[in-house]
Parts: sequence; C-alpha cells; structure tokens
Amino acid sequence: MTPLKNLTIKKFNEGLVKKDFSAAEIADAFLREISRKDGEIGAYLSINEEGALREAEAVDASLAKGEKIGPFAGVPIAIKDNILIKGLRATAASKILENYTASYDAGIIKKLKNERAVFLGKTNMDEFAMGSSTENSAFKMTKNPHDNERVPGGSSGGSAAAVAADLAVAALGSDTGGSIREPAAFCGVVGLKPTYGAVSRSGLIAMASSLDQIGPITKTVQDSALLFNAIRGQDALDATSTEIPGSENYIRELLDPDLKKIKDLVIGIPGEYFPEELDETTKKSIDVTIKTVQSLGVKFKKISLPNTRYALSCYYIIMPAEVSSNLARFDGIRYGRKTEGVQPATNLKDIYFKTRGEGFGNEAKRRIILGTFVLSSGYYDSYYKKAQQVRRLIKNDFENALKEVDAIMTPVTPGPAFKIGEKTEDPLTMYLSDIFTIPANLAGLPAVSIPVREKKEGLPIGFQLIGKAWREPDILGLGFYYEKTTAPELYEN
Ligand code: GLN
Repeated sequence: MTPLKNLTIKKFNEGLVKKDFSAAEIADAFLREISRKDGEIGAYLSINEEGALREAEAVDASLAKGEKIGPFAGVPIAIKDNILIKGLRATAASKILENYTASYDAGIIKKLKNERAVFLGKTNMDEFAMGSSTENSAFKMTKNPHDNERVPGGSSGGSAAAVAADLAVAALGSDTGGSIREPAAFCGVVGLKPTYGAVSRSGLIAMASSLDQIGPITKTVQDSALLFNAIRGQDALDATSTEIPGSENYIRELLDPDLKKIKDLVIGIPGEYFPEELDETTKKSIDVTIKTVQSLGVKFKKISLPNTRYALSCYYIIMPAEVSSNLARFDGIRYGRKTEGVQPATNLKDIYFKTRGEGFGNEAKRRIILGTFVLSSGYYDSYYKKAQQVRRLIKNDFENALKEVDAIMTPVTPGPAFKIGEKTEDPLTMYLSDIFTIPANLAGLPAVSIPVREKKEGLPIGFQLIGKAWREPDILGLGFYYEKTTAPELYEN
C-alpha cells in the first residue's frame, strides 16, 4: 500500500495510471486515517465518506474500461467550509449557518467535479474566514500537526493542517488578507493566493469581496500550479473573474517552467518587510533561502515599498466595511438559522437581534460593528474613502517596484506558529500576524507561501514570493526550482 505521506497530486496520478493502487483504496485509506488521527488534529468539520468513495469507485470503473483520465481523477481533496458543494453542509464555521446545506456548487467545485476529483470533506476555519489561528471557529479547535500546543494558523487552518498531517493530498482555502499563506507557512505546506480575478468566487461565502480569492494548499509547488490551473478561469457567475491573458503560453509556463527563464528573474527585497523586531529564526531562514535562490543564478535587488506601514490600518477599514455589508444577509429571514430565544421574538427587529446576537461570534460582531461605523454617513469620507485612497498608494508602490524587479521576496509571518490561546485576548496582536500578507490582497497581486526547505528542525517557516499580476508562472516557477534544489525527495518516486 502506498504510504499517504508525501503523496502528491502528481504521484497519485502516476500511481493510479500504473495501477500501483486504485482510487478507492486511496480514498478509503484517507478516510481511515482521518477517523484515526483527526480526533486529535481537528482539521475537518464534516466528512463526505459516501460521496468520496462513490466518486473514487467511478474513477476506477472508468480506468477498468480503459477510458482516459485526467490529472485530477480520483485525487482526494479537502475543501474549506466556506466553499459550496451541492448537498453538503457549508457552515463557514459559524453557528448561524450550522444547518445550512449548499443548494449549488461553487464555480471551482464544478470544475473539479468535471475533473473527477474526490472531496474528502469540509475543513475547519475561523468563522466567516475572520482570523489567523482558526480559534474563531464556532465548532472546534484545530491543532498544528507539527506541535499540538500551537495553532495551525488561519483562517484556512483546517485545510493547511489536513495537508500537513497527510489527511488529504491537497486542499482549497480562501485568502482575504493571508488566510491561505499564513496557515501554509505555520503548517509547512505550500499556499497560493492567485491574482485577484484569476479564480471564480461564485459559491464562496463572501467575506470581503474586493480581496477574497480561492487558492490551493498543497505539499509541493508543482501541485500548487496543477491545482491552480484546474480551478482558474472565467466564470459567468463572478463578474470579476477573467481568463488569463495569453492563456496557452501561460499554461505551458505554469506547468512546465523553463529554468533558463527563471534564472533571468530579478527578485526584490523590500526593506520594510524586514524590521528590527522580526523574529531571528525567520530572518535567518529567509537569508538562507536567498543564498539558495542566488545559487540558481537568480539576482536580488533591494527595493522599497514605502506605504507598507499603512497596509494593516487600511485593510482593517476596507475589510470590515465589506464584511458588514456581506454579512447583512444573515438575518434569520433571508439566510441563516433563525433564533427565537427563550421568549419568542415579537417583531422583526427582535428576530434580527436574537438571530444575529446568538448566531455570530465575537470577532464577526466586532467587524460588523466596525464596518458599519466606517461606512456610516459623516464617517464614510474620513475612514472608508481615505482607506480606498491609501489602498491605491499601496498598489502604486508595487507597480513602481515591479518595474524594476520581476517578483518580491518577503517573510510570510513575523514568527512561527504561536501557542493556542496566546493571542486570543488581544485582537490587535492577532491582526499583526498578517502584516506581510495583507498588502498583496490590497494590490490584487499573486503571492505564494513556500516552506523554507533548508530548515529541517523545529517549527516550519515560510517565505513569500509576490509576483506581477497574472504572473503566477514566475513565482511558482521559481518556487519549483527552489524545491527541486532543496528537497529533491518531493519529486522522486
Ligand atoms: N487574518 C486576516 C483577518 O483576520 C485574514 C483573513 C483571511 O484572509 N480570510 O482578516
């Protein structure tokens, strides 16, 4: 039996085609591993046992008939619980959606169903994707597979933990300010936030629509490129989604990066992302990574992104503004479980109060209140409008820098995974976890978090590559050759 450890999308497909195993065998092995280990890790909120086995068996039947299968057929994937799969629960880890069953498939789920991927289950997250540790889930804790006393990061903590603990071959998360990249860094896996508009948001329970993107969490950079390519593309149900300009070339570069082109890249190092207070191990790890990448022939250049220091404040105005508007629909009438309380509600307002009062957790309430405030008349201009202007300045910083360099390297987080409970008392220290990831969302740029592979002991640390818009091939191509140099075993059979 093939060990589930280090089983990548690529290796799964090769093994399946060579008949080393069947899809049903692997799906079954994952389901057993989940029931054995997930009590401790807590990566999943619900398991799709029947559906997963049925699809895996169907893939095996196709193979037995000699039909051709694609690279995703039978691949066991975990899906964050804010992404809709028809007929399965989608709670976004909120009490208000506890009993909600999705009535349609998200755009990316339709694509993956066509590819015949197997959905193992829905993963834990911070409520409505608000948080950096998965501690804001209304239902359970998720633990970091590298150290059970530590958080897996968030908000896609369940997805990152599932991949890191070999409870799925790959997973999907969503990233509004770092929710794919931060948990990927904490759990030692690869997380990609695509260019804004590259992936459809149809069927993603919205947090902040101008920032949200769905993306892959995988064991290798190569898998990241494969999964990203499977979910990207225009969707009539998301007006902001676009086909990537020059798709054919793009796909070739993405799936088969050319080392000669990668060697020609110039990478920017922004001083603003390496402050005095940066954790020592994180700093050293990035230094080592720079040396390795230099040895590939890639050049580095110091750059400046002067408005970085406003990014966090800007995000914490724009994001809650959009949250307050997106979450208004959960009122117990249009969407969400209606709560009547001990005393039945006597009027409409009372229904709203009780439903929203009991259905939302503290972090969701905090952001709804903040967002409503910054959008209110009299404050709109001084907060929301100002933040939009600052967002433009941050975007301009990147545009200017990316005229000089092809991509930018930074840390993903100010330090490694923190202890459970360490930051729950003070929301501000929690918000600081995303200081290096938020700017790419504000600017709409693609960014990937890759584990520092030279670091073999202790907690995982990630480095981030931010690319030009629609240039995922640059950051993933560089990541691919970096991994081939530092962790060739990932690509060996
Ligand atoms: N941790 C950030 C926040 O709390 C980002 C969340 C996300 O990307 N969904 O808003």
